[in-house]
Amino acid sequence: MKKIVWGFALIMCASCGNNTPKPAEQDAENTEVTTSGDENTITLNSDDRMMFDRKEIRVKAGKKVTLTLKHIGKMPKNAMGHNFVLLKKGTDISSFGIKAMTASDNQYIPKESDEVIAHTDLIGGGESSTITFDAPEIGEYDFICSFPGHYAMMKGKFIVE
Ligand code: ZN
Repeated sequence: MKKIVWGFALIMCASCGNNTPKPAEQDAENTEVTTSGDENTITLNSDDRMMFDRKEIRVKAGKKVTLTLKHIGKMPKNAMGHNFVLLKKGTDISSFGIKAMTASDNQYIPKESDEVIAHTDLIGGGESSTITFDAPEIGEYDFICSFPGHYAMMKGKFIVE
């Protein structure tokens, strides 16, 4: 069946003088890839300058979120460690950050805390960490890096819509 269709298409092209059916077909394929790409798949980069490359992340409610944190710097994690910590609404970033400082044995995630929705591993230069979690309810949340002292610079808004 496919061969017949192809043959027909070639004859059509030959007869109409349009000899470039390929680009149109490739465009169609590319469009398909783009639209089927999951908008809840997020890549967040961090670096040796104590920065995230995004101040805002938007995801759709009611779906899983797959987030990959990459450390594109070179410094080791004991000097320039980064994580992504998504905090529940109403969490005070400063007081959470201070609590997190004492949790060096738990990747700077306070063990007793119920303020964390999701978090990645703590990573150093050249590493990455991927997590999957259910998008929380529609609203605006804070995300930070909970490595000591980083939350002042490394924070942003996680918006569920
Ligand atoms: Zn950090």
